[in-house]
Amino acid sequence: MLQQRTLKTLTRAVGVGLHSGQRVELTLRPAQPDTGIVFRRVDLPEPVDIPVSAQAVSDTRMASTIGTGAARVHTVEHLMSACAGLGVDNLYVDITAEEVPILDGSSASFVFLLQSAGIVLQNAPRRFIRVTQPVEVRQGEGAQAKWARLDPYHGFKLRFEIDFAHPAVDSTGQCVEFDLGTGNYSRDIARARTFGFTKDVEMMRASGLALGGGLDNAIVMDDYRVLNADGLRYDDEFVKHKILDAMGDLYLVGKPLLAAYGAFRSGHALNNLLLRELLAHPEAWEIVTFDNERLAPAGFAQPARAW
Ligand SMILES: [Zn+2]
Repeated sequence: MLQQRTLKTLTRAVGVGLHSGQRVELTLRPAQPDTGIVFRRVDLPEPVDIPVSAQAVSDTRMASTIGTGAARVHTVEHLMSACAGLGVDNLYVDITAEEVPILDGSSASFVFLLQSAGIVLQNAPRRFIRVTQPVEVRQGEGAQAKWARLDPYHGFKLRFEIDFAHPAVDSTGQCVEFDLGTGNYSRDIARARTFGFTKDVEMMRASGLALGGGLDNAIVMDDYRVLNADGLRYDDEFVKHKILDAMGDLYLVGKPLLAAYGAFRSGHALNNLLLRELLAHPEAWEIVTFDNERLAPAGFAQPARAW
């Protein structure tokens, strides 16, 4: 049987929120089978649980925000991406502020945290959402066009293409395809950092955003070039970060997908719209488990390897 996974022990991290600039403590704890991933705001007078789901996504402007009632958690996508990449099904995320710490701007720190705590198998079948018919969402026309889609695939792979019309971004790889079954998430995707442009950063700061952002947790560019002294971590770090984000956004559906994701200039909003479109078409997917591990997609039975 292909089993669900959680952490062996709890683990902690402290950092600042990218947008709020607030100090925040994060505690990742093991959870029972079929719990899913649950964020818990432990700083509120009464702790509030926010289980991840496509419907819990309440804001997608700069990052993916989930919420229940008035309780919110912003910028969940990099931690969610690490959980998707390592195949963690059940987890409590205790958090002391309304934003997940940005750490180094990638998901590498979360991968390190999860792997240090250890990942254990649980006595319950891993439930996948298998896409059985194509689902697609589109927005905009001409140069503004963007789209994202899911196609049936025995495994999980993502293909992303960007087009920022910016010299520093355009000189890097514009398109990447990544297959989770390779087991290379930690090495090939997790280290890709978020990125921003100085002119947007000034605008965002004026409206109280990106207050915790800087050269140690993002790739920052002026109109022409990358300002980080050490340059890029991958030749195609920008598009790889979009894959990292998409994995996190899609894992908010609450279960691992068996599908091929393809996207052109998509982002948090369109990724969430794609999940809602999928869920609105029950004929386009089914829940599956694998009693026989050998029938599971290649690479899925083994915990993801470290770098
Ligand atoms: Zn991101």
